[in-house]
Amino acid sequence: MEISFVVFPFIIGLVFGSFFNVVGLRVPKNESIVAPPSHCSKCKRRLTSLDLIPVVSYLCLRGKCRTCGMKISPLYLWIELLTGMLYAMATYKIGFTPELAVVLLFISLLIIIVVSDIVYMIIPDKILLFFLPFLILGRILEPLDPWWDSVLGAMIGFGMLYFIAVMSKGGVGGGDIKLLFLIGLVLGWMNTILTLFLASVIGLLTGIIVLKIRGEGKKTPFPFGPAIAISAIFVYFYGEKIIYWYIGNL
Ligand SMILES: [Zn+2]
Repeated sequence: MEISFVVFPFIIGLVFGSFFNVVGLRVPKNESIVAPPSHCSKCKRRLTSLDLIPVVSYLCLRGKCRTCGMKISPLYLWIELLTGMLYAMATYKIGFTPELAVVLLFISLLIIIVVSDIVYMIIPDKILLFFLPFLILGRILEPLDPWWDSVLGAMIGFGMLYFIAVMSKGGVGGGDIKLLFLIGLVLGWMNTILTLFLASVIGLLTGIIVLKIRGEGKKTPFPFGPAIAISAIFVYFYGEKIIYWYIGNL
């Protein structure tokens, strides 16, 4: 595979990642994603096209607004880099096939959700509803084997998280439940269970670390979305290997 096949999707990913930051930050507040144009939240200075170059502008400005010097959250930078890396990895591993469109949509959905969930602890319905028809269409045109694995995956994802939500009395949000429906659709039932298992382990470990840092007894909720997103993407690429390894060792 030519190196340009990796560099090109990486750069596309940086640009999209920059856009996903805007979407993830604005949609939960019911703001338009096109107007007003990006501006510094403190001094309201409109960002020029130079400021909007992903990663480069952040590094050149050393993470501060050019006019007022307000610190820009490094989250923007990490989201851009993460999107770039995941787009490059997906293209490298899958190649230019219809399945690439499905996984790029999947990655995009998860990145936006990570932004919203980290900043507001919300997984917006609008985002889930926007991606739903595209992912259904994607799995109709590029079905899993067997095709009904998507249907079963969606039902199991939704059902398991709904059950956890009822049992934990609100420990899991409605957004998480609906997100698992979409993940099940893309991944199929076995990979969805694996995603939930991994996400729970990551969530539990994060919870313990957060508790240690903030001090015992202070039970503050933290977003579960990022743990789900990381697990889902990992399982998309390596789930089958893990499952075969596990079954092989039984
Ligand atoms: Zn400013």
